[in-house]
Amino acid sequence: MNHFQTLKKPVYFEGIGIHTGKFSKIKISPSDISNDDINFIINNKKISLSFENIVDTKLCTTLGNDFVKVSTVEHLLSVLFSLFITNVDIYIIKGNEIPALDGSSKIFIEEICKAGLKKTALKPKIINIKNTFIFKINNSIYKISPSNKFEIICSIKTEKSNYLNKQKYKFVFSPSNYIREIAAAKTFCFLQDIKEILSSGKGLGGNLENVIIINGDEVLNPEIMTYKNECVRHKILDFLGDISFMRVYFKGKFELINPNHYANFKFCEYLLKEEVVYGG
Ligand SMILES: [Zn+2]
Repeated sequence: MNHFQTLKKPVYFEGIGIHTGKFSKIKISPSDISNDDINFIINNKKISLSFENIVDTKLCTTLGNDFVKVSTVEHLLSVLFSLFITNVDIYIIKGNEIPALDGSSKIFIEEICKAGLKKTALKPKIINIKNTFIFKINNSIYKISPSNKFEIICSIKTEKSNYLNKQKYKFVFSPSNYIREIAAAKTFCFLQDIKEILSSGKGLGGNLENVIIINGDEVLNPEIMTYKNECVRHKILDFLGDISFMRVYFKGKFELINPNHYANFKFCEYLLKEEVVYGG
């Protein structure tokens, strides 16, 4: 991919938010300024895609400031990043969350592709990883090493489920691989955690259609799944949405164990230190 692309025309999404449980509606429009990046527009206030605008990373990624916010931005951002889409304004028309749709990125991609994409003059920046680094935080581990491709390998280690412990997926980044291998991977949660999530005021829009529910080594609703290893593929989907805040792409191998939103952003901070990125 030599150039970024943008939308040919606006595209709308609506539905319940997975955490608020409330109806939300958004519009994604190509922006007027040809070198503009990705912005969220909430109540006429522009919130740019930058780390300082991240206000919460528990269970989802929330952007905003003291006055406005929008949560669960990661699945849409994962699509924009993976399809090299920029120069768009994301208007939050109703609600304060991106619609959950089916719990994956699939519907975002289908509708964006229907609206059509066109090349921009902008080119993505690609960073070559020159050395091997390991970053650990809580129970999450990120290992990066040189590669001539952008590869992401993800696995999960948990006492809660051997079903998840057996999952591992290697993804070689490209828009077509993303559409085929990652986009339809739905979000998941543990049955035993639902009560606590709900009592924290989150997960209110989750249901058996948009969340894979894991109970030990069993999946309660396997009929909604598309892939084998779907949970680690969804972790890769989320990771791509979170690292999109760096506004760069990589040649390097990323091995992730137990990634989550909080750890993903700490990893980004670590990665953006000059000596890591440029091999110091
Ligand atoms: Zn997710």
